[in-house]
Amino acid sequence: MEEKYLIINAGSSSLKFSLYEMPSAKEIVNGYIQKIGEGDSFYELKYDGKKDVKEKNIKNHSEAVQTMLDELIENKFIKNIGEIKGVGHRVLHGGEFYSKSTLIDEEVLNNIKSLTKLGPLHHPGEIAGIEGMMEVLKDVPQVAVFDTAFHQTMPKENYLYAVPYSWYKENGVRKYGFHGTSHNYITDKMKKHFGRDDINIIVCHIGSGASIVCIKDGICYDTTMGLTPLDGLVMGTRSGSIDPSIIEYIAKERNMTVEEITNALNKESGLIGLAGKNDYRDLSKAREDGDDMAKLALKIFYNSVTKYIAEYYFKLDGKVDALVFTAGIGENAYVFRKKVMERISNPMHIKLDEEANKAIPAKVREGKISTDDSAFEVLVVPTNEEYMILTDTYNVTKGK
Ligand code: ADP
Repeated sequence: MEEKYLIINAGSSSLKFSLYEMPSAKEIVNGYIQKIGEGDSFYELKYDGKKDVKEKNIKNHSEAVQTMLDELIENKFIKNIGEIKGVGHRVLHGGEFYSKSTLIDEEVLNNIKSLTKLGPLHHPGEIAGIEGMMEVLKDVPQVAVFDTAFHQTMPKENYLYAVPYSWYKENGVRKYGFHGTSHNYITDKMKKHFGRDDINIIVCHIGSGASIVCIKDGICYDTTMGLTPLDGLVMGTRSGSIDPSIIEYIAKERNMTVEEITNALNKESGLIGLAGKNDYRDLSKAREDGDDMAKLALKIFYNSVTKYIAEYYFKLDGKVDALVFTAGIGENAYVFRKKVMERISNPMHIKLDEEANKAIPAKVREGKISTDDSAFEVLVVPTNEEYMILTDTYNVTKGK
């Protein structure tokens, strides 16, 4: 029998929601409440190819949840709130507490609150979303799906930084990794693709935010993002790894606070910092139009992706089953894939199938882009984080 599940993605002033039927995973409606607590809030509902936009002064997340539920009932997507069997919440940081999605009780909520210092931009909104939901849907099981959980299998030698050990023991300074739901989704798909669990793959989730994971024997062995999503690859607006001394140097040189610098490293660096554009399409267009900085920024970006693929190739001792590209750029930009492949093909004994690469997504959405005589498969696989959150929520709440 089909049952209804809600998936929530709450920000500091927004609430995204989708209502699904399970086990068919059919989406019934989705919506987005914006500017919560800002006086001019509004929301939209999307269903059956239609879009309704409404204005309403929504003061807090609890009111946002109530508004959403009223709309779901009014539009007959549900008869009453009792029809909702479970709610899944996307949560940025599970710290070392959680290696999988978890039913939320008071202890879990307190642990999520204690991790706000590691996710200061995301956690306050996510907590408000959970509390708003729990207030209104008291008896409905709520599940936290953490972006970090998938990476908890990393061995110590891969998650520790070479800094004073007390920073780890007393302050939790270590690599946590992010984009876990996406990497988990792709890894599950690849296990089905190869028909076994002990796969060695390298997954490149390359969107505006970007990270690569090294999957060894079917579990996460290493990843590029660190204590926060700032580490690793050059991204749309994030610097990725840099010399940490830059922070003190710039603080003195430009009379900036650590917070201001961290903000600049998160929002004004990466591709936008170098070339003034963070969108890959805009940057590619600028490059075609002869913009030298766009050309240089893209080169630095491709090199950064190449560097981590190479590291993980070595960490897997060259025994790779597949290299997978996913997310906005990975799935859609064939030139990006070509540029990365140009840099790794010879040492890794793989060859790009130019036709197959160009066909994604122009003709098909996914597929193999390496030639049959390549040492391993190179694939494009669309990610689906929402599906992962939904199935986790369903599995955790089943029978509750
Ligand atoms: P995030 O989820 O981190 O915001 P996405 O996964 O949505 O990011 O990816 C956004 C990036 O994907 C942008 O840089 C955008 O330019 C790029 N992108 C999306 N569609 C295309 C396309 N058709 N061709 C090239 N790049 C694309």
